[in-house]
Amino acid sequence: MIPTRSTQAWQAADAAHFLHPFTDFKALGAKGARIIERADNIWLWDSEGQQILDAMSGLWCVNVGYGQTALIDAATEQLRQLPFYNAFFQTATPPAIALAEALAAIAPPGFQHVFFAGSGSEGNDTVVRMVRRYWDLQGQPQRQHIISRWNGYHGSTMAGASLGGMSYMHAQGGLPIPGISHIQQPYWWDHGRAQGLSREDFGLVAARWLEDEIQRLGPENVAAFIGEPVQGAGGVIVPPASYWPEIQRIADRHGILVVADEVICGFGRTGNWWGSQTQGFRPDLMTFAKGVTSGYIPLGGVMVGERVATALIEQGGEFEHGYTYSGHPVACAVGLANLKLIQELKLVEHVREDVGPYLAEQFARLKDHPLVGDAETCGLMGALLLVKDRVRGTAFAPEQGVGMVCRGHCFGNGLIMRAVGDRMIIAPPLVITRAQIEELVHRIRRALDLTLADLH
Ligand code: PLP
Repeated sequence: MIPTRSTQAWQAADAAHFLHPFTDFKALGAKGARIIERADNIWLWDSEGQQILDAMSGLWCVNVGYGQTALIDAATEQLRQLPFYNAFFQTATPPAIALAEALAAIAPPGFQHVFFAGSGSEGNDTVVRMVRRYWDLQGQPQRQHIISRWNGYHGSTMAGASLGGMSYMHAQGGLPIPGISHIQQPYWWDHGRAQGLSREDFGLVAARWLEDEIQRLGPENVAAFIGEPVQGAGGVIVPPASYWPEIQRIADRHGILVVADEVICGFGRTGNWWGSQTQGFRPDLMTFAKGVTSGYIPLGGVMVGERVATALIEQGGEFEHGYTYSGHPVACAVGLANLKLIQELKLVEHVREDVGPYLAEQFARLKDHPLVGDAETCGLMGALLLVKDRVRGTAFAPEQGVGMVCRGHCFGNGLIMRAVGDRMIIAPPLVITRAQIEELVHRIRRALDLTLADLH
């Protein structure tokens, strides 16, 4: 155990040595980080003893909630038995083999193979390598181009950030890398409402932006389209039901591969094992991470569908790609225990039939709040859009930072909810109960009231 220190002592050491991800180092140093010390179920406790409802599952990952002894025991036993061995030189470990087998069993038909990585970003780097290799093997080496979406998030490595459509990330480090371009996201509120389109009509319009981009590039040059079934970090953008099936039709027409980034949507989050099942499409590759171990230990990878797997296996020869931790035995042992627990607790059904619809109902009720212009959910992902004028749908000026004000009130009142612009988003652990959803919504309403009071 690490000896305890006071909050101030932790903050001082933190500011002196720890460069946090996606953080203004100087500003955080001045303010001091919040120190999270322990957790159980859906709750966190900070170093001041405050109990906080974690409505973000850590970082979209703690699907089974905190404190699950099955996962802790699996890690401990595997650490004792074999803490590490690699999978490079014609070797394998039982946990990696067993997890690959278990993932194939829960994957949609046609997925029999898995490539392991250490994170979602590494998984998406693997996707880029695999997609391009696939087209080389098809005798179409010019098919290198991958189409993605603005405001999508696919990680922070060079390829992951390039696939992602966060322009502020591209601005640092000379991104995107060549051969990647972005189309607009299927966000009805910003891109369809003002045009007077119904959500479903807008879904078709947004999908056809893919067709336009394919024509611009020349279909013979396009390798793949990648997207999150429901965009997470971009603000929980739930696409209209018409969107993904139309994307699938367009991709099929041109023979291009479809990649589902399931890093957030996988493992029950949307009420099915995979978000692509909820959104009604059949990807060729699926990136996963986060929920595969419920975040207890890092693990990511790519589910490889038959079309790509057959080419790589039968014609590919050596695939020149991999990571030290591809198939890490401890991570895979935790992954196996996690999948087993999701099945035992029937969490996928729990989301689909019980707490998912209940959250949708509760979020719909929040639309009576003067700040809430729109409320959307998909399984246990949800977003509330804060607006200045609900009737006209007028947005707040970005410099007002209303989302950040609301986030501050959440933090101050024992709730972790994230702000993406003025979209307040949640993705609570899948073990959440109806009573806990009521508590969550009660805390959200209080934060909204405090935010409204600040604006007057
Ligand atoms: N893809 C999606 C959809 C994500 O949300 C994330 C992380 O939030 C990633 C990829 C990157 O995963 P990681 O942070 O494990 O590299």
